[in-house]
Amino acid sequence: MSTLFNDTEIAFRSKSKKQLLQAYWLFRLMGFPELTKIGTYLIKTALKLPLGLKKVIKSTLYQQFCGGETLEECQKTIAQLQHFGVYSIPDYVAEGQESQKAFDQAMFQVLETIKFAQEEKSISFAVFKVTALGPIDLLIKTQQGAELSESEQKEWELLDQRVHRIFSSAVNARVRVMVDAEESWIQDVIDEWVMSAMFLYNTEQAWIFNTCQMYRHDMPIHLEQLLARATKLSFIPGVKLVRGAYMEKENQRAAQLGYASPIWKTKKETDKAFDAAIGFCMANDIMLCLGTHNEDSVALALDFIEMNKIEKSSELICFAQLYGMSDHLTFNLAAQGYRVAKYLPFGPMELSLPYLFRRANENKSVSGQSGRELELLKKELERRKSSE
Ligand SMILES: Cc1cc2nc3c(=O)[nH]c(=O)nc-3n(C[C@H](O)[C@H](O)[C@H](O)COP(=O)(O)OP(=O)(O)OC[C@H]3O[C@@H](n4cnc5c(N)ncnc54)[C@H](O)[C@@H]3O)c2cc1C
Repeated sequence: MSTLFNDTEIAFRSKSKKQLLQAYWLFRLMGFPELTKIGTYLIKTALKLPLGLKKVIKSTLYQQFCGGETLEECQKTIAQLQHFGVYSIPDYVAEGQESQKAFDQAMFQVLETIKFAQEEKSISFAVFKVTALGPIDLLIKTQQGAELSESEQKEWELLDQRVHRIFSSAVNARVRVMVDAEESWIQDVIDEWVMSAMFLYNTEQAWIFNTCQMYRHDMPIHLEQLLARATKLSFIPGVKLVRGAYMEKENQRAAQLGYASPIWKTKKETDKAFDAAIGFCMANDIMLCLGTHNEDSVALALDFIEMNKIEKSSELICFAQLYGMSDHLTFNLAAQGYRVAKYLPFGPMELSLPYLFRRANENKSVSGQSGRELELLKKELERRKSSE
């Protein structure tokens, strides 16, 4: 593990002692698999839960991982991050919504973010998930090449309009926008959409970024194809590299339906592909956002930056971590002059629960991310105690 990011004084300088203690206990609790299981069940059914429990979730998990219910509520956090040289990527996280009204609402939230980013240089990207803007079943059917009914055709047109309204608004406002990657059974449709938008809009700058999940073993070829297409059609590609968030779901579905899983068999292979992709993108001047909490991958990217004599603050490459996680990476990168941002989820508490549930699950292994967070929080609490 790299020692480049061990300065906990820098890592946690935006946090009060009370906030550190709260984070420490939260990560400890998430480290108990049984508690996470119960918590997950409770979170999943939280809509029916008494007000008291909702309040507990709001003042713990929600406060740790979300910026607020609205963009306005996030402004204090955005200003605080900016104060320490960290950009924000506000991310409206209402998930599992199914009505056309909710899809419109999600689109308006992204448009609001774009408007805000036009004036506020502290926002480096707008971001959205296609499934927040339209029914997932429609995307599945489209990817399968199934025929759409008349009403589905209408829904498709509405979804297409929402996606393009976001793209054109972002480009007009000169704000970069990223599209999150989702499950492989809808991702081809998303890729095609983003690819054609890049062709249309990324003529002078990479305004639109697609996401590549390097846990998929077809991704290295996909990246090569993206570059070839960009060269042939003269557009500038923008890529967010991530490892991928849906591994268990992907493997489960592949096993159930009897096809080969698209995910590498081992973590080592995913790591190798992710690190190779950093090199590939940098060697080919692909504008890059590295969405990762992996210290070795970040350290490798810093080596590439130095080797290629790229300015630390260059827009060619930026780093991003999720709000509430890996502050040691974010704040140390910012202090060293690199371009780095926090994904800052916002939205009504009840609608953010699936997002919170994923974070709690991701942090349940004390030998993984949660262990590292705990080690650093403990170190900083001890440092502050000894300097009191
Ligand atoms: C800013 C940001 C934006 C993100 N956006 C997206 C997005 O749009 N779409 C998306 O899907 N995810 C997204 N993620 C989540 C991301 O894909 C990872 O799930 C998460 O960041 C953990 O990976 P890591 O690189 O941080 O670190 P690590 O802890 O080093 O890696 C964990 C990851 O490795 C992979 N992995 C673990 N075990 C195995 C195994 N046995 N075999 C193969 N692979 C394995 C999985 O992808 C797992 O999530 C985003 C993350 C960040 C920080």
